Amino acid sequence: MNNVVLSLSNVKKTYRSGDEGSLPVLQGVDFTLRAGELVALVAPSGTGKSTLLHLAGLLDTPDEGDIEIAGQNTHGLADAGRTALRRDQIGFVYQFHHLLAEFTAQENVMLPQMIAGVRKAEARAKAQHLLGQFGLAHRVKHLPGKLSGGEQQRVAIARALANNPVLLLADEPTGNLDVRTADAVFDELLNAVRGQGLAALVATHNEELLARMDRVMTLRDGKLVERVQP
Ligand code: ADP
Ligand code: MG
Repeated sequence: MNNVVLSLSNVKKTYRSGDEGSLPVLQGVDFTLRAGELVALVAPSGTGKSTLLHLAGLLDTPDEGDIEIAGQNTHGLADAGRTALRRDQIGFVYQFHHLLAEFTAQENVMLPQMIAGVRKAEARAKAQHLLGQFGLAHRVKHLPGKLSGGEQQRVAIARALANNPVLLLADEPTGNLDVRTADAVFDELLNAVRGQGLAALVATHNEELLARMDRVMTLRDGKLVERVQP
């Protein structure tokens, strides 16, 4: 069975800005991620991790190359098609939670579902269930500003999982938390990914958790290569 969830071939991205000229970041990335695979992306700051995740998450477009999500080539796909693919197949967790400040935790997890056409009662029940899974059953009515950093990030993860994506992309999801909280949140993230058989690509600096990953990739000279474990 060809259960490829994410496929990148010869993906290139160069940033161009007026005065500073051009900055080639990704210079031919090839990568395949299959269902149930959990892959870490570990590379120094500024090497292109966020750029790569944004391209894979259809938040940006490459200069060259092909990106396939769940068997669908995104090259030449119109905005509506990209939006639908992103909404239905991809969950994205940012380094900073990006929750909507004026909505409760529960509403933040309901919103992507309602945008996808799920009825309100069902979306609410799903949000309740997901937040409970992350130990937040008693926090569902809180606004993000009333939650701790770890709680905010758990809500963001629950939101990313709300539409049952096949692919989870996370950009240093615990990079903003203290070490103990980061370890706990990361552990819950990995359990959720494993439990649901999702494919995940996670940029992280947390070396201790790498043993739980199937592969560790790094960026070298603008290409994605497997990192040899020490
Ligand atoms: P990482 O996530 O690994 O820290 P990024 O993908 O954020 O790396 O950035 C890679 C390089 O591209 C950095 O040098 C960064 O400054 C530059 N960069 C990122 N986004 C932009 C942008 N929108 N415009 C210009 N340069 C950018
Ligand atoms: Mg980054």
